[in-house]
Amino acid sequence: MANVSSHATTQIACKDAECGLFALARSAEVTPAELKVVAVPPSLDPAGDEWLGDTPLYEVRPKIYPQRVHGFYRRVKWAVLYVTLGIYYLTPFLRWDRGPNAPGQAVLIDLPNRRFYFFFIEIWPQEFYYLTGLLIIASMALFLMNALAGRIWCGYLCPQTVWTDLFQTIERWTEGDRREHLLRDRGGWTAERIARLGAKHFLWLTVAWWTGGAWVLYFADAPTLVRDLAALNAPLAAYLWIGILTATTYLLAGFMREQVCLYMCPWPRIQAALTDEHALNVTYRYDRGEPRGSVKKSAVLRAHGLRSGDCVDCLQCVHVCPTGIDIRQGPNLGCIQCGLCIDACDAVMAKIGRPAGLIAYDTDLSIKDREEGRPTIYRFVRMRTALYVAIIVAVAGVMTFALVTREAQTISIIHDRNPIFVRLSDGAIRNGYTVRVANKRTERREFTLSISGLDGSLLDVVQMREDGRFVIDVGPDQTREMRVLITDYGYTPPPSTPITFHLYDVATGERASAGDHFRAPAGG
Ligand code: SF4
Ligand code: SF4
Repeated sequence: MANVSSHATTQIACKDAECGLFALARSAEVTPAELKVVAVPPSLDPAGDEWLGDTPLYEVRPKIYPQRVHGFYRRVKWAVLYVTLGIYYLTPFLRWDRGPNAPGQAVLIDLPNRRFYFFFIEIWPQEFYYLTGLLIIASMALFLMNALAGRIWCGYLCPQTVWTDLFQTIERWTEGDRREHLLRDRGGWTAERIARLGAKHFLWLTVAWWTGGAWVLYFADAPTLVRDLAALNAPLAAYLWIGILTATTYLLAGFMREQVCLYMCPWPRIQAALTDEHALNVTYRYDRGEPRGSVKKSAVLRAHGLRSGDCVDCLQCVHVCPTGIDIRQGPNLGCIQCGLCIDACDAVMAKIGRPAGLIAYDTDLSIKDREEGRPTIYRFVRMRTALYVAIIVAVAGVMTFALVTREAQTISIIHDRNPIFVRLSDGAIRNGYTVRVANKRTERREFTLSISGLDGSLLDVVQMREDGRFVIDVGPDQTREMRVLITDYGYTPPPSTPITFHLYDVATGERASAGDHFRAPAGG
């Protein structure tokens, strides 16, 4: 087998025998020894006879049998899996006391009342700019992760990765690790295989069903909805969404797996455009690994004072890869940077008494530095990382300030469109408005209303005058809409006068304001 002397050479060598070898290694149908007798694939030369012959337009997906692996990155992945799935499945059952007139669920998307509750925060529809802020922070955090350590989002945190990891674990429980699974698949249909397959699909469907079930619990009081679902009393939409999410989870995590990352997800393409040469990536340190060869061959070469790399070509890094790629071929869009090949290779290095880290989070720049005898420098603080952090801090700061200073009452005004004004029989000009008052507290409150900016005018809140004053009674966590008329007796007001509406809480004096205009005919 030809050795890989550099990444560039490896990546363009895909038309030769090497490509066929790696494809077969990925398919896991052959052992390293068998790889040596694989024939060269047919020529792709357009002038050649085979062109347009049987060459398929799309590569057939080789079935991947990822092998179990132990090590530091595997432990990190387990920890992330437990924490993220734990958060997802249990959060709807967390309680949060907001008082007697508000829901007691800590995280709730209350669509009928158009509210989003997150512990002590309650977001109203007109405050969805918080969501914009959160999306900006999430995007910048993703860019920052990418600038520091490539696709660590994909390798550890992405839901597709987490659920695929869980489904692959179930597959190993039921069908065995890579070797047993391969043998069973080759062994044809037996009663045991059918039973194992049945158990696998039953467990997959159970997890998928729980996933869909947990999702709908974010949209209603979770304990009540669970009871209603069990008693078949829940709304049809709940059953529908559980069905849709069960099907998509089963399909995406059970069958499509790495194909979602390779063909469906846009992030690898965006990520490739955003990365730079200083970002850490899972890297095969070819400066150390090449020329590769078996332990025996390497010992002979070394005994004769010849150079031999540390890679013993055992393909363990390929066998554990959940996307079935060979990291030794260089950067690859299919690599989700999960680090499992690092664990596999470190275990091999430990067995043969060579230092760990032949595959590691590294950069091509540092490999070049080592080859040229320069010290390795990792630059985590760069213009782009500083910029991402600055944006995150700025947006988080603005959101926190807005949250801390948000008012417990708001007022919004809509001026009548038609007619814009009315001239009364005594010559006065009247404007009409629709005013909406929001009470964001969980207790009933009374408000009163006044205006400034138009001296000598009369304010009337239709049907709400009481004891010579306006009392606007608004229920807990509710809004109230009313008609407001302003009549100006100045007879010759300007065509447009800025005015301000002032809302006061009768009990506490808390206030809110909103601006609008008083319109009049030009020329009085
Ligand atoms: S090459 Fe390594 S880091 Fe990349 S996906 Fe495969 S196992 Fe994970
Ligand atoms: S696991 Fe390490 S030694 Fe084995 S083939 Fe991969 S890089 Fe080489």
